[in-house]
Amino acid sequence: MLKNKLVFFYALLCMSIVVATIIFLYKWDKSIQIYNEGEELEKEIEQIKEYFSMLPTKKIKLKITATGEIKETSMNDYLIGVVPSEMSPLSEVEALKAQAIVARTYAYEKMKNNGHSDCDICDNYAHCQAYYDIQNIINIWKNRGYDDSECLEKVKEAVYSTENVVITYNGDLIKAYFHADSGGKTEDVSAIWGKQNIPYLVSVESRGEENHKYYKTTEKFSVAELETKLNANTSKECSIKNITDNLIKIISYTKSGRVDQVDIGGIIYTASELRAALGLKSTNFTVQYSNNEVVFNVTGYGHGVGMSQTGANYYAKNGMNAKEIIQHYYTGVDLAYLNTKD
Ligand SMILES: [Zn+2]
Repeated sequence: MLKNKLVFFYALLCMSIVVATIIFLYKWDKSIQIYNEGEELEKEIEQIKEYFSMLPTKKIKLKITATGEIKETSMNDYLIGVVPSEMSPLSEVEALKAQAIVARTYAYEKMKNNGHSDCDICDNYAHCQAYYDIQNIINIWKNRGYDDSECLEKVKEAVYSTENVVITYNGDLIKAYFHADSGGKTEDVSAIWGKQNIPYLVSVESRGEENHKYYKTTEKFSVAELETKLNANTSKECSIKNITDNLIKIISYTKSGRVDQVDIGGIIYTASELRAALGLKSTNFTVQYSNNEVVFNVTGYGHGVGMSQTGANYYAKNGMNAKEIIQHYYTGVDLAYLNTKD
């Protein structure tokens, strides 16, 4: 009798595991149902938007880093907080739409690949994407003298008019990296971050970048400061007290013309290491040593991979729509609908 009961419970346990696995796989399969509609997409937005408005919107679990609070919000409300945290609301509407599609894709791709264990995404720009509560953003707009209701309308239009639209490559969500200002040419992802090849993240021209407020920046360090920062912020140990002109030199460049590696007092640093350790705006720099100072002249702002927000705004001003902007920065991609009904 007892043996029969044990067999029964064991069978029930096995069945539960199988059913749970099937439901999990089915759920991801359904939620990543991608429609590649090519040129028909713009027309389809209206029909499909109506259809989705009757269905529950997919929720996202967002961690607020400062408090540790995890709040559940809709993807649209999340994006209304992300888009103006990442891009000026004074940008062109088509550039804001491109940013909304990029941010949505970035978030879903992170969710799909379990970017966090206790939530779907966090509000830290260095780990996921910047997010501020819209009320805080409105207060910032008011302090800056912006027309806050006009700004909010633009952000909402960018999010709602592109609802459920994501960027795909070969039927899968792309890693939608973006940055502020490329300095004229975006970076090939294979040049940084572990040197992996991703066919849609290759270097492309990016125009209109020179109007960004951080297009050209200069950082100066005394030799002692440079040594302290390098030793505090990298795992390498550097002693450069007796630095001379030829003890600091760029030894290689990436394909897009950014710095790849720098020799400082016989220690080799990647440009990304230097950028992080010294707070440089990008890895596109020159370096000189004069009057006991090391001077970095930097062009552009950000890692340079994927969409340049400054370039996106330039192309929008010059008549490109969101889709054209996205297809300019991410080589060979499509736009698609993500079915979020479950
Ligand atoms: Zn995160």
